[in-house]
Amino acid sequence: MRIFLTGAAGFLGSHLSDRFLAEGHEVIGMDNFVTGNRENLVHLVRNKNFTFIRHDVTEAITVRGKLDAVLHFASPASPNPASPFGYPNLPVETLKAGSLGTFNTLDLARENQARFLFASTSEVYGDPLEHPQTEAYWGHVNPIGPRSMYDEAKRFSEALTMAYFQSKGTDTRIVRIFNTYGPRMRLDDGRAVPSFIQQALCGEPVTIYGDGEQTRSFCYVDDLVDGIYRLLLSDEHQPVNIGNPTETSILDFAKMINHLTGNTAGMDYQPDKRLDNDPQRRRPDISRARLLLGWEPRVDLVDGLSRTIAFFKDKLGIK
Ligand code: NAD
Ligand code: UDP
Repeated sequence: MRIFLTGAAGFLGSHLSDRFLAEGHEVIGMDNFVTGNRENLVHLVRNKNFTFIRHDVTEAITVRGKLDAVLHFASPASPNPASPFGYPNLPVETLKAGSLGTFNTLDLARENQARFLFASTSEVYGDPLEHPQTEAYWGHVNPIGPRSMYDEAKRFSEALTMAYFQSKGTDTRIVRIFNTYGPRMRLDDGRAVPSFIQQALCGEPVTIYGDGEQTRSFCYVDDLVDGIYRLLLSDEHQPVNIGNPTETSILDFAKMINHLTGNTAGMDYQPDKRLDNDPQRRRPDISRARLLLGWEPRVDLVDGLSRTIAFFKDKLGIK
């Protein structure tokens, strides 16, 4: 396949590029580096099946030659207002990436009669009132809250994707991605995994927002990429959750990182800094992914975190 991928210089985009290239496909990656990183693509520069285009997905896109698949992954992804790379500090950019960007990439797929895959999120469920979250759940989202620029852009993009599928016959797919971690996450985007690991490796207390009782279910990036690859090859047009159903409190998660890094500095509780509208519980129901794609995660937390810690150690120059 000849694959067009937006957000290619990001965490997930760079791993997806690796997988597509390893499977013998050609990748045309696009990114404007608003939160991504050139370093994520350095190893692909000499690969003759990889081309990079620096471009903003919200501007009109033209690509020479026929495409077989278009994947739209370009969007800021961190909810942390303490980071300049968090979407609360890029609100209009985030809404544009998940509206104009989705129009542009859907049109590109339609013109090429190509498959289209949209990177949606567990955030479409908001601070969920149902647990675990199945794809049938409609969500509990504050339309003007501090996460709204992201959540509503993703919900709009899902609606737009279904509209192209239903009214224009575009061959679409939607993946609802739950918290994913691994090498190449941006150290300073404020998400829990890079922040916790960086603090732990530097021997500092790990910053916990609130009491740490809120939960997440973390999926290792290779597992996620495999689920997305299977979804792209499938004929499933309804949204599919991809994530790891092993749920942990943020406090236990931070303790695990301290244990794996040998950090004895403990926690720095920031009770007043609980992020506004922070979802309290999150765990994917992956029955549909199991049934439709024959997919389930294989990498457990200790293994995945160890690989991620090794990457950040190297990046920080820690022996
Ligand atoms: P990331 O920030 O590492 O990657 C996003 C990439 O998109 C960056 O390289 C950024 O520069 C690029 N980008 C943003 N706006 C752009 C624009 N207007 N034009 C061109 N490029 C643009 O984040 P990530 O974790 O790799 O997330 C990738 C996608 O997956 C996002 O759409 C995100 O919403 C979605 N997602 C990720 C997770 C996760 O846990 N990582 C969970 C749910 C959904
Ligand atoms: N969190 C934290 N300290 C940090 C960063 C995050 O306690 O330095 C918490 C955050 O409040 C949330 C969870 O960790 O409850 C996961 O946050 P992340 O930003 O990784 O992703 P989210 O799932 O909220 O989009």
